[in-house]
Amino acid sequence: MAFASLATNTTEAFVTLATNDDYSLGALVLGYSLREATTSKKLHCMITEQVTTPVREQLQRVYDDVSIVDVLASNDEANLALIGRPDLALAFTKLNCWRLTQYSKAVFLDADTLVLRNVDELFEREEFSAAPDIGWPDFFNSGVFVYRPNEETYRALLHKATTEGSFDGADQGLLNSFFSGWREASSAFRLSFIYNVTGGIFYTYAAAYKKLRDQVKIVHFIGTQKPWRGGVGIQMPEFAQIWHRIYERHVAGTVPGSSGTETIA
Ligand code: UDP
Ligand code: MN
Repeated sequence: MAFASLATNTTEAFVTLATNDDYSLGALVLGYSLREATTSKKLHCMITEQVTTPVREQLQRVYDDVSIVDVLASNDEANLALIGRPDLALAFTKLNCWRLTQYSKAVFLDADTLVLRNVDELFEREEFSAAPDIGWPDFFNSGVFVYRPNEETYRALLHKATTEGSFDGADQGLLNSFFSGWREASSAFRLSFIYNVTGGIFYTYAAAYKKLRDQVKIVHFIGTQKPWRGGVGIQMPEFAQIWHRIYERHVAGTVPGSSGTETIA
């Protein structure tokens, strides 16, 4: 009897989003990078109907759960706000991660992130924890964050999105407005930069990169130059190479159009 309270759901998961086959390539590599880092957490990928069957099948091989989210059919309020604002569609789609209430706590990772070593310690943090954005460090970057799935939070976020929109047209602006206390909150909510290392900074602070690159745990390939869109890219070439190695090991040749230098097909 004394243990009855332990029956509450304590499952924790890493969550990502891929609305199409293109971003699914990122999600696949991210999933395998988490496996290679021997995480003990569940892996969950949200997709939309746009993701084709063979790609879904590959996602299901690495993710414990792949669920379909459909922004446009899900909520009248959201539908209205999206009319004439296609830029907001993605922000709305990401919000669905708060609806995954089968998990007590979750870490959201953009599909363009790559995990280099075990980061399960992130689950010791509370909502809302994130790392600073390099462009304006008083705002957090929304590619990596710790949160608690909760329908009420989801509805509140949706309401804010529909009434106020997003100051940058994307999820990052919306989430920074909603969790505006983050900037002044205790350092416990401020994740170290090693959990969300974005390109660009190395050109302005190359010495820091040289000193700390061995401690980097999560890399984030922001911008349009995604690793799956060809070559090693100009962003953080040594990290992009690690991305490509995981891609070659697990993904190349498994889904239509996913060629690689060592294509299996
Ligand atoms: N995303 C998606 N489909 C899209 C654009 C974005 O699934 O067409 C998801 C994906 O998880 C992606 C995240 O939304 O990593 C945020 O977009 P992105 O990473 O391209 O933005 P950036 O980090 O470059 O600002
Ligand atoms: Mn991203």
